Amino acid sequence: MLSDREVRSTCPFCGVGCQVDLHVRDGVIHRVSAPFDAAPNYGMLCVKGRFGTDYVSHPSRLRKPLIRVNTDEPRSASPVWREAGWDEALDLVADRLAAIRRESGGDAIAAFACAKATNEDNYLLQKLVRAVLGTNNVDHCSRLCHAGSVAGLQLAIGSSAMSNSIAEMEHLDTFIVTGSNTTETHPVISNFLKRAVRQNGAQLIVIDPRKIEMTDFATLWLRQRPGTDVAVWQAMAHVVVKEKLYNPDFIRDRTEGFSDYIESLESFTPEWAEGVSGVPAEDIRQAARLYAQARAAAVYWGMGISQSSHGTDNTLAITNLALMCGQLGREGTGLNPLRGQNNVQGCSDSGGLPYVFTAYQRVDDDGIRGRFARAWNRADLNPAPGLMITELADAALAGAVRAFYIMGEDPLTSEPNLNHARHALEKLDFIVCQDIFLNTTAELADVILPSVSFAEKDGTFTNSDRRIQRVRTAIPPVGESRADWEIVCDLAKRLETRLGQTVSAGFDYGHPSEIWEEMRSLTPDFGGIDYARLEREGGVHWPCPSPAHPGSPYLFEDSFPRGRGKFWKLEYGTESEQPDAEYPFILSTGRVLYHWHGGTLSRRSKLDEVWPEATVELNPEDAGALGVQTGDWVKVASRRGAIELRVMVTGRSPQGTVFIPFHFVEAAANVLTLDRLDPRAKIPDFKVCAVRVAKTDPPAGRDRASDAPLTERGAIKDQAALVH
Ligand code: SF4
Repeated sequence: MLSDREVRSTCPFCGVGCQVDLHVRDGVIHRVSAPFDAAPNYGMLCVKGRFGTDYVSHPSRLRKPLIRVNTDEPRSASPVWREAGWDEALDLVADRLAAIRRESGGDAIAAFACAKATNEDNYLLQKLVRAVLGTNNVDHCSRLCHAGSVAGLQLAIGSSAMSNSIAEMEHLDTFIVTGSNTTETHPVISNFLKRAVRQNGAQLIVIDPRKIEMTDFATLWLRQRPGTDVAVWQAMAHVVVKEKLYNPDFIRDRTEGFSDYIESLESFTPEWAEGVSGVPAEDIRQAARLYAQARAAAVYWGMGISQSSHGTDNTLAITNLALMCGQLGREGTGLNPLRGQNNVQGCSDSGGLPYVFTAYQRVDDDGIRGRFARAWNRADLNPAPGLMITELADAALAGAVRAFYIMGEDPLTSEPNLNHARHALEKLDFIVCQDIFLNTTAELADVILPSVSFAEKDGTFTNSDRRIQRVRTAIPPVGESRADWEIVCDLAKRLETRLGQTVSAGFDYGHPSEIWEEMRSLTPDFGGIDYARLEREGGVHWPCPSPAHPGSPYLFEDSFPRGRGKFWKLEYGTESEQPDAEYPFILSTGRVLYHWHGGTLSRRSKLDEVWPEATVELNPEDAGALGVQTGDWVKVASRRGAIELRVMVTGRSPQGTVFIPFHFVEAAANVLTLDRLDPRAKIPDFKVCAVRVAKTDPPAGRDRASDAPLTERGAIKDQAALVH
């Protein structure tokens, strides 16, 4: 089919940030291709980018605002909504939020920013929260993915983004992949990493409990017991010290606290670590030598490191080793938490966090806060850091938070211990969901505001390697849906009127480029990046403080943001829930190639035909003991709840560990997970909790086939079916 036009944009799924050409005919995207001359993907796309964007035309897209009718019933009752115009819906939202602010203060309201929305959308949402509502209660899903990485890296070096660019990957010398099933979660990055091995002869060390595809390319695979990462990394550091493989010049010139740290390493012998983790001591020694003696070595990690009740310690253990070996500050060396969603990096950079404005400028710093207050026409702003997402459920149950404004997120799929989270949301006085589809959380909402997809708006996303890239309008909005930034501006002005804020903080913009200009005027790291430059260059890596600056593909050549890199002494002792006689398996959760996060998007695309239902991955030994085979049904239960789903027998997970993807609302893995938090990062333990597994009968009408349409499985509802 011939296209009317092709529009260059950025893939809406993962943090690789692949450039896509959207081929449009008659207002519909009928094909997606990748430009061969554009970074970061140079012609490559994975199945999601190539075939998954058809969700933008799914018939269940929200088209008009919805207002809940049955407000006299408990929030847990089946929702009944009616359609409304934008004025009526936004007036209602403004009336209710203004009333709650007057009665209980701004801290009684919390907002969820959105890692799928643009930088400009998120900048404006946090501006509304801070300048109009007067609270710092704004957070987003990075709390649930890389908060452990962010906390650890901030403590050790003062910066939490990837230190190296994707372009460096295929020239790597030595690298470690840990806690990342890169082939499925960052597929195009995995291609560059595999090229480094096959074409560049790079040495790859994989540290992961699952036999992921990257192990096929590895020189060494360290298969640790889930949750024992600190033991393995500290033992590697022990070997580096004992064999004097560290880099004395780097330690002297760039770090602090080394002598205290090496004393603390004495007991972390490889033999001790073998007992704790199951990784042979000799493999730990070999991995330490490979990493320390490499000309250049980089570490890449994902949720397996971060999503843990000791995620901060996991990150600090990795950082200690990198500092000790001087594997930072050069091309092909560094520390690289692979960011999950398309714009999770940008959402954090845009101030979607409860303790910082844009680019990690702290709200409790008087000078920084004063600069933002002046720009937003306020005498001052609230200096107290706000609540984190994982603290909101308890705050709602205690009545301290009364209203949630949720932009593009689905906490009732993504939060741990979902029954507890649902109970908390049911206590709230007012819930607003702004999204392109109904989701599980929206079924509890008082007002639903229809927003547009990535293909219907302009703006920027920032990918995992800090590259800021354009998103461009390709098709017209669906129904009466509006861009997130337009909705936020409209609501902010209505709120200012109701709250008597006679001087506006400024919510009149004609185009997202004007929002970006305001953002960069307040953010030194973005100072040299404007839309014209993005148009010319395709993308720029921040920090980029001036127009003449080339951008920063890799970081820390001369110094760290905190000055010297700091070694942190660590104890070993897991807080994770351990298996026992009643719940004998370890549950680990994660993603599969064909789906994305809560499934809101990918389950409304053709991708769902490839992987249409929830599965639990069982080791063959465990499957044999349970008397089940692939295709059978089991009930998986933890102390928090139970789900039923289909078995997939595979040697990928080790014996005693089961793996469940979290994309499937009808068998939500987070019903099972534990809401115990890392004390510093406040991230839950999504990778380790205790469950039991028992064979069960298939649900009515289901045998070994998986062909029931999604609507019957309760996963997808459209607006027409819900309006009365
Ligand atoms: Fe999109 Fe990520 Fe796939 Fe690239 S690798 S096409 S950014 S999902």
